[in-house]
Amino acid sequence: MQYYSLQNHQHRVSFREAVIQGLAPDRGLYFPAEIPKLEKRLKDTIEEYDPLFIALSAIQPFVGDDIPEKDLKKIIADTLSFPFPLRKVEENVYALELFHGPTLAFKDVGAHFMAGCLGYFRRGEDKPVTVLVATSGDTGGAVAHGFYNVPGVQVVILYPSGKVSDLQEKQLTTLGGNISALEINGTFDDCQRLVKTAFLDDELQTRRPLTSANSINVARWLPQMFYYFMAYREAKQWKKETVMSVPSGNFGNICAGMMAAAMGLPIHHFIAATNVNDTVPRYFRNGAYEPQPAVATLSNAMDVADPSNFARILQMFAQNERALKASLTAYRFTDEQTVAAMEEVFAKHEYLMDPHGAVGYLGLKQYQQKHPNNTGIFLETAHPVKFLNTMPESLQQQVTAPEQVQELSGKQKVSVKMDADYGQMKEWLMQ
Ligand SMILES: *Cc1c(COP(=O)(O)O)cnc(C)c1O
Repeated sequence: MQYYSLQNHQHRVSFREAVIQGLAPDRGLYFPAEIPKLEKRLKDTIEEYDPLFIALSAIQPFVGDDIPEKDLKKIIADTLSFPFPLRKVEENVYALELFHGPTLAFKDVGAHFMAGCLGYFRRGEDKPVTVLVATSGDTGGAVAHGFYNVPGVQVVILYPSGKVSDLQEKQLTTLGGNISALEINGTFDDCQRLVKTAFLDDELQTRRPLTSANSINVARWLPQMFYYFMAYREAKQWKKETVMSVPSGNFGNICAGMMAAAMGLPIHHFIAATNVNDTVPRYFRNGAYEPQPAVATLSNAMDVADPSNFARILQMFAQNERALKASLTAYRFTDEQTVAAMEEVFAKHEYLMDPHGAVGYLGLKQYQQKHPNNTGIFLETAHPVKFLNTMPESLQQQVTAPEQVQELSGKQKVSVKMDADYGQMKEWLMQ
């Protein structure tokens, strides 16, 4: 499979190059030159196949010959090492739980798959590569776990001191081995600025080659299709149209779902549910794409003003707005609505949602008011335990900590503290 840059369709690279580069040199996102079609038999009798085979069938056309099947199977098995249960919440409403991985957020899947691919492409190289990444919370932990112990890869994670939750900090700082955490005296924006500066620094790159584990990397984006295949595999038994509501920030997850549908997976409709960072819902209402500064919300992993992956969604529909709207609806919800939904769903159905999942639930319910006759699935993207401190008190007591949290409690935080100063960081990276 070839990938082209959305900025210049003539610029084409292999899967391998797209994974190693992340972004095209012209800063465009990579997009597959063709959309592969699923075999009819897989679609019609998907319930007869096991998840690993389905995932392989979904991703292999995008990888092509760049990774042999035997190695790709290993990478997939490592990526899908935890379950994705579909739980009934109420009539026609199901939660697809994506938070049973090592860091309790759905980003584990993309991070593990990308780590597997990069590890494969780097094998046999004698100079290690350093994955440098800034995190406001969830990304860092998923990347750290994904790349933990991958030979030939070192990971350096920058996070803003005091601005990530205790649990998130533990996930970043307790692994050791090839993972280092830089605790920056500053904001997430400072961390991002430091990372960007490092990528432009030739002297540093010569000494210590860097790569990013950014969410726009095709190896983090495409494996998210697996969720939709797994959900459909179960939902098919109800013999109704399947609609899926995705709590969206940078729109990578939903864009992967829409790619699965473009391949032929029978998902009838998608709902993009956002918090008040509602650039896409506004665009759907008035046709103007006008990002405004991001606002902090309870569903903080979705506080994105200018979702990068929306460009990929537009490309999938050849920039045809009418066709896009026939497949995708977008809604926005406030924090008040989010908390009310968490309380109501727990009171009525004893199902505890995290704030991100709750936004997805709200999107689904709003769509079903007009389209009641379907199997509705919303994606539960993080475990509620990650958001304990911002939950209503009545719900906090209901959260049971999974074993991933208990394992962390005895571990010692190790971080390197520094100011948001490029010189200081560079010196540390150079030694
Ligand atoms: C990253 C994240 C999202 C948003 O996913 P996108 O692919 O950026 O739209 C939603 N929920 C949680 C918990 C996340 O960590």
